[in-house]
Formats: sequence, structure tokens, C-alpha cells
Amino acid sequence: MLKINNLHASVEGKAILKGINLEVKPGEVHAIMGPNGSGKSTLSSVIAGKEEYEVTDGEIFFDDENIEELSAEERAHKGIFLSFQYPIEIPGVSVTNFIKTAINETRKSKGLDDMPAKDMLKLIREKSELLEIDRKFLSRSLNQGFSGGEKKRNEIFQMAMLEPKLAILDETDSGLDIDALRIVSNGVNKLKNKDNAVVVITHYQRLLDYIIPDFVHVLLDGKIVKSGGKELAHELEEKGYDWIKEEVKA
Ligand code: ADP
Ligand code: MG
Ligand code: MG
Repeated sequence: MLKINNLHASVEGKAILKGINLEVKPGEVHAIMGPNGSGKSTLSSVIAGKEEYEVTDGEIFFDDENIEELSAEERAHKGIFLSFQYPIEIPGVSVTNFIKTAINETRKSKGLDDMPAKDMLKLIREKSELLEIDRKFLSRSLNQGFSGGEKKRNEIFQMAMLEPKLAILDETDSGLDIDALRIVSNGVNKLKNKDNAVVVITHYQRLLDYIIPDFVHVLLDGKIVKSGGKELAHELEEKGYDWIKEEVKA
């Protein structure tokens, strides 16, 4: 589904990613871990096609298509979802209306008409019940005054509604309290199936007790320096990152 070859990328002329190789197949859960500043968020932004990042070498394939020339919006339409892609507050636009628009824009990009209102309501009902999301929450203004947990709930609801092929969840180092942790992990576990894939980016091992990864990769100074199974996350929790830095040096 996703194949990254020798990816180099820079921001404002500074090289951040220095030769990433990664392959994600349908049905897989990958975790990317690494110390602060190692390039985790840059990697997710580059995959999603954010414009501030310049790809200087290498390739990204999604479903066998080189997506380099595609905009972030076009990538989203193809089924790449990045958490916190829409962190903006929009007074007067509800959680539900925002997602309706996103769904209909995706359909339009595929030459389809708007989803009939009846089907949309059914989908909203199904997904909100699956994720145990209160109806009242769905009518609130997007991100306005949202707590950390509510931001996560909104994000997971967006993911459930859009049914992306590839979800990249960049769990920034702060803000994952127990409530948010539960919302994210329940959501991912309920939405995961054999045809989609999830890349969870996290600084902490704790999230990976709830979302069990098939593969764990360690990102250090813009390179994946070690990959393993879920036990690697536990090893990192115990021993930190210094031993890997030593291994890389040696
Ligand atoms: P991580 O998510 O692993 O903490 P980031 O990808 O956020 O790491 O950052 C990697 C490096 O790139 C850091 O040195 C950071 O300062 C720099 N960087 C990331 N995004 C930008 C940006 N938009 N402008 C300038 N520097 C950036
Ligand atoms: Mg960081
Ligand atoms: Mg980050």
C-alpha cells in the first residue's frame, strides 16, 4: 500500500529526513518511535503532502502510484488520512457538517454526486454508535473549546467516517492523557481491518499497550535505524534510546 524508498526531505533548507525506507501492507499496524526532533512529524507530513516540506530525493508510492506530484488534498482523496490535518477552529461549523463536506469533496474528486442525506445520516449513526460518541458532541462547533480528549474524539470520528486506507496518527508527545489514550486506541482497534493500515507515531510506549503494532521502527536523526516487533517498544521503554544511538555509532 505504502512504499517509501530512500526518502530525503528538508524544511527551510535544513535536511530532516535522510534516507527513509518503509513498506506498509494492507492489514498492518506500524509504530514509529524516536526521540524528540528525530523527524517523526516531518515524515508524517511528507507522506500527507504538506507543502512546507521539500522532498529532495527518493520516492513515495501509494497503491503503486508515485504520489510526489499530488497535493495534500489529492492524497487525502486517495485514502491517506493524517491526524490533526484539520486542527482549525470553525465557529458555526459543526463536527458533522465539516465531515459531510469532506466526504462529499472526496466523492466529487471521484466523479460521484453528494452522498444522499439518508445514507449520510445512517453512516453518522453507525460510526458514532461504534465509537460511543454522544450526539451532542457531533453538533458542536469544530474544535472550538475542545479538550484534549474531545480533539481526539473528533479526529477518530473523522477517521471512522472517511474510512481511509492508510491512517497516520501522529500522537504528539504531550496531551495523551488516559482519556485520550483510550479514545484513540479503542477507535483504531474498532476501525482496523484487513484492507486498511495504520501508522502510529508515538514518543511513548504506553499507547502501544493498547494498539498492538506488527512492526516497530526507530527513527533517529532522520533515518530508521532499527525495526522489530512489538517487543522493541518495550525494550525502548525500559532502556531509552541511548543504546540504539551507541549501536548506530558502532
Ligand atoms: P519529531 O516529530 O520526531 O519530534 P519533527 O519532525 O517535528 O520531529 O522535527 C524534526 C526537526 O525538523 C526538528 O529539528 C524541527 O525543529 C525541524 N522542523 C520540523 N518542522 C519544521 C518547520 N516547519 N520549520 C522548521 N523546522 C522544522
Ligand atoms: Mg517533536
Ligand atoms: Mg512530532
